[in-house]
This record gives sequence, C-alpha cells and structure tokens, in this order.
Amino acid sequence: MLASPHTMATCKTEQMTTRTAQCACGRLRVTVRGEPLMVGVCHCDFCQKRSGSVFAASACFGDDQLVEIIGEAKIYNGLKIDGVGTAAGGGSVDYFFCPMCGSSVYHVADGLPGLFVDVGNFVDPDFPAPKSELYTNLRHHWLSSVPAATQFQTLPTTLE
Ligand SMILES: [Zn+2]
Ligand SMILES: [Zn+2]
Repeated sequence: MLASPHTMATCKTEQMTTRTAQCACGRLRVTVRGEPLMVGVCHCDFCQKRSGSVFAASACFGDDQLVEIIGEAKIYNGLKIDGVGTAAGGGSVDYFFCPMCGSSVYHVADGLPGLFVDVGNFVDPDFPAPKSELYTNLRHHWLSSVPAATQFQTLPTTLE
C-alpha cells in the first residue's frame, strides 16, 4: 500500500470529513469532502464484470464536494464506443479507471450531477452504509441484503 487508505484529517476550517479514494496502485486518487449524497449497491451483470467482484458499491458526491483528482485516468463508455458493454440502465456513463492497474475508481453519468466513487477504493470499513440495493435478482445466493437498504429487483425508475 502506497499511502494511508484511511479517512484523511478533517478540514481545519470547516470540520468536514475529507476522504480519498485510490486505485490499487495508488496513481489515481479522488479526494472528496463531506458525506456522500447517496450510497448504493448494484448487483447487475455489468457492475459484476466491471468490478470483477460480485457486486459494486458506489457513493455519489456533488460537484461541489470534489476536492481534487490526481493521476491519469482512462475512460470507458460502452455506449459511446459501440453500444455494447453498457451499464444496466443503458445510459451513457463514463467509467474512469487507472490505466496502470485497471481499478475502476469513479464514474460520471450523462445528465446526472456529481460523480460516483466506487466505495471499495476508500478502504474505509466505517464508510456510510448503502441506502439502496439494485438488481437484487442477480444477487449471489450467499449474500444477504444490506440491513435497512431499499431493495430493487432491477433498476428503479426514480434513480435513473
Ligand atoms: Zn492504479
Ligand atoms: Zn450495476
């Protein structure tokens, strides 16, 4: 591990939590301030494949919460390339990943403000819990639902 993955010191002036998400090799880092507007888990086939894990967890931060992005990112947007390999909703989403180690770090959806940071990149066991779970129809049988999170079998119309 190249740098401390834990929550960084709070802002001296604003007493607001600042967190840094980083890729596996540490070259791509996103620092955000304040609490996430939304935290969600997605079990869709695209999120399983893009993350290599059995579900993806992401946290939405407003544009005004972004402190800085350090390092080079490559962008994958299946819809813009050939319409294949798109997010479950079929929308245009830019996925930013580290060209060196390949970690997915954050994504930006067309028409939606803010950025969605993949929660695992914070390596923070105390990170706020998800409030919603999408595509529970693809949740692996050995996983239980997140307590108190709203469950959606597929994609709720209210979120996209
Ligand atoms: Zn990397
Ligand atoms: Zn998904």
